[in-house]
Amino acid sequence: MNSTAAVAGWGLIGASTIARQYMVDAIRAQPGHAVVAVASGDAAHARAFAAELGIPRVHASVAALLADPAVQVVYISSTNDQHEPQVLAAAAAGKHVLCEKPLALSLAAARGMVAACARAGVLMATNHHLRNAASHRRLRELVRAGAIGRPLAARVFHAVQLPPALQGWRVARPEAGGGVVLDITVHDIDTLRFVLDAEPIEAVALAQHAGMAHAGLEDGVMAVLRFDNGVVAQLHDGFTIAHAGTGIEVHGERGSLIGRDVMTQRPVGTLTLRDAEGEHPIALQHEDLYVRGVAAFCAALRGEGAPAATGEDGVRSLAGALAVREACASGSAVRIDRLLAQGVAEQDAAEQNAADQITANQNGAAA
Ligand code: NDP
Repeated sequence: MNSTAAVAGWGLIGASTIARQYMVDAIRAQPGHAVVAVASGDAAHARAFAAELGIPRVHASVAALLADPAVQVVYISSTNDQHEPQVLAAAAAGKHVLCEKPLALSLAAARGMVAACARAGVLMATNHHLRNAASHRRLRELVRAGAIGRPLAARVFHAVQLPPALQGWRVARPEAGGGVVLDITVHDIDTLRFVLDAEPIEAVALAQHAGMAHAGLEDGVMAVLRFDNGVVAQLHDGFTIAHAGTGIEVHGERGSLIGRDVMTQRPVGTLTLRDAEGEHPIALQHEDLYVRGVAAFCAALRGEGAPAATGEDGVRSLAGALAVREACASGSAVRIDRLLAQGVAEQDAAEQNAADQITANQNGAAA
């Protein structure tokens, strides 16, 4: 989309909780952008959602929404298993895509989605909202500016009580992409990549089954990741921990940065620098994380900068989460860089096969 196209119609794929609570308002906060249509897994649910939120059109299927000329951008917040086919269909229909995390259930699928959007010439981004938090942006700036010297270690506290309204597919349906690792750990990994400006290369982890999740899904996890700048990071994620509070800490040779109550959807929390001179509260200009994220996406549509988290960021956070899940299952360390390299090799092979097939078909037709 070029700079003359200021107005964009958004279609929602998924009449979801996240769309209702945050994203419809975040889209409507952008000048010239409007939510024009919705399609969901259940047409009656989509109609009720549209009536509640004042969305003018309801489509009976995703295909019908993608055929609607009033829709130029789609926000995909269906269950995690649906993201891949819906992003591929959106790209084929020439629609720009803001997709929820985790991008997909496999690395090959996530890479295929990014490649399809690139081939179609549409913008693709991942809705990792925490990059837009004032706390995390200041953390990144301070780490970069050397406020704590060389960073050595990080800790993320993101174990919460999953509200009853969200205890559906997340805790019962492995095939939909449930479990705490694909839900929360994927956010932590993206946040650490952003704050540390580094890539995770290795993971060890233990899963917990504390009684909320079923069907073999984990509802708690503790993981340790090694980053390519030498930082080791500890993560604790959960659905069953009501009173721990959330946080992120980055510890360096000369000081520590302590973020409290910042692993959240709301623009809240504090950041403190602790060093030899004492405690220094860091001023934060809080703003709505989702409004800021959608604003960056809309700017990127106009050709101004990049989205807060790109499709490639979504691939890399998923690689880290899949490595944590594999480490839980195997009890062994899993190399994330190798998973990513393998994903690239599989993608290349798939694309070569597709190209060979086209050539073979053309030769067959010519013979
Ligand atoms: P919900 O269960 O509230 O919503 C999921 C939606 O997906 C439902 O409206 C459901 O439709 C719809 N759906 C299911 N199958 C299809 C299909 N085949 N076609 C179209 N729609 C379908 O989920 P959440 O809002 O909790 O989560 C949705 C997504 O957002 C997940 O990927 C989750 O990881 C992500 N998320 C991200 C957050 C963030 O801050 N970035 C926060 C919370 C969630 P119906 O009920 O009508 O059948």
